[in-house]
Amino acid sequence: MAITDTAPEKTLFGHPRGLTYLFTTEMWERFSYYGMRAILVLYLTNFLLLPGHAENAIGYATVKHIFESLFNGGQPLAVQPFSSLIYGNYTAFVYLTPFFGGIIADRYIGQRMSVIVGGITMAIAEFTLMEPSLFFIGLLLLIVGNGFFKPNISTQVGNLYKPGDSRIDRAFSIFYVGINVGAFFSPLVCGTLAEDPAFGYKWGFFAAGVGMVIGQLIYIFALRTLPKDRVERSRGTTETKKPLTGADWKAVIALILLCIPTTLFWATYEQQGNTINLWAEQFTNRALIPGIVDWQIPVTWFQSFNPFMIFAFTPLVVGYWANQARKGKEPRTVIKMALGNFLLALSYVIMAAAAYLAPDGHASWLWLFAFFAVITFGELYLSPIGLALVARVSPPQILSAMMGLWFITSFTGNQLQGYIGSFFSRMDKVEFFLLCAGLGLLAAIVTWAFDRPLRSILEGEGGKPNAVVEPQGSEVHPAQ
Ligand code: GLU
Ligand code: ASP
Repeated sequence: MAITDTAPEKTLFGHPRGLTYLFTTEMWERFSYYGMRAILVLYLTNFLLLPGHAENAIGYATVKHIFESLFNGGQPLAVQPFSSLIYGNYTAFVYLTPFFGGIIADRYIGQRMSVIVGGITMAIAEFTLMEPSLFFIGLLLLIVGNGFFKPNISTQVGNLYKPGDSRIDRAFSIFYVGINVGAFFSPLVCGTLAEDPAFGYKWGFFAAGVGMVIGQLIYIFALRTLPKDRVERSRGTTETKKPLTGADWKAVIALILLCIPTTLFWATYEQQGNTINLWAEQFTNRALIPGIVDWQIPVTWFQSFNPFMIFAFTPLVVGYWANQARKGKEPRTVIKMALGNFLLALSYVIMAAAAYLAPDGHASWLWLFAFFAVITFGELYLSPIGLALVARVSPPQILSAMMGLWFITSFTGNQLQGYIGSFFSRMDKVEFFLLCAGLGLLAAIVTWAFDRPLRSILEGEGGKPNAVVEPQGSEVHPAQ
């Protein structure tokens, strides 16, 4: 079957109409994902894992047994460590399955069917979570559903455009804004419902499910504006069969090396929804202006700080790089990534200071505000930049696999994140945050050390201005 051409070009603001629908679908999907994620660790520590609940959940004994043997030397796990491990493993596996979901779509069922199967599975999963005894089944369905959905909706963004169309970078930036709009609103809705005693966690999951259903309806309604499937693509003869040259292999090895510190980045970065969420709940004075306006900021609303700051800071960061580029001073990509790791380390030094200066146990929420600001700059210096690097230097015949590899850094990173998080209640908080800062610093040093040896391999991308490299998150993988 020949590769089908792009959708008929009816444009909106110079982009195919399909982009608007993919943007909206992904916004609702991320609304669902981040809404559930905002309440997950709180649900576990405050409800499900307390005596009398989880024992009835299908799969509980197996999961507990596996985690205790793997992560706790066979000893019983207390509530907080167990919660963090469940959180870490869940967020890890949702980033492992997209690797396979991309391949299944490319080879067998196509992107459209994958998005629909994934979306419906995730909607059912969210409603399943409303019933505590089905909790682990719900998580499993989310992991499977996301594998089908996430890589393939992004592929469709790429497929709206013909290869080489210069609008494609901009399209991914717009799409990434959709992700963060969804991620921003969902804690405000799902989190607020979950924290309100009149509703509770159940309704938080329900709202996440409704978001997913809305996303699916929009997607199905918009099918005619979306590009046809490219099922043959990965079987494509000439491209995929071309053997890798020596230079190609060097690029692959360089990218694999960069994945090592990037795993450490995610392991530390992703504490946000886990231990930072617990910190906001247990160790933060959340009164808006203590003594004057005593209204408490809901715990889950802190999960909206990062996505909000993503769209607030993006123009600043991109503008700053463009300015540096004009002076010929824009850092190479690897240096930017090292700086991203360094900012990440710094954000945890802020948390360590918060813990140190609040020995009575309740630090001002402004510490968290500062933490989120610094970590968001760190994210902008690493995540979209790293993806753009992968997209630029990967040999085209294995781009899909290389993007999958980038996703796998989120898998390994989240695994480690859950493990590190399991020490939160057992460690002094200053030491815990300094440990996170130390890991960020280690990642920064390793990335920095890779700069010189990798410079010639990644040559050609290094000196180029990155003005087009706006945050594209995990979304820049047109080939997957
Ligand atoms: N926050 C982004 C998203 O949800 C990127 C996460 C990642 O690559 O791990 O798509
Ligand atoms: N910033 C994350 C992603 O880039 C969203 C989040 O963690 O809330 O889109």
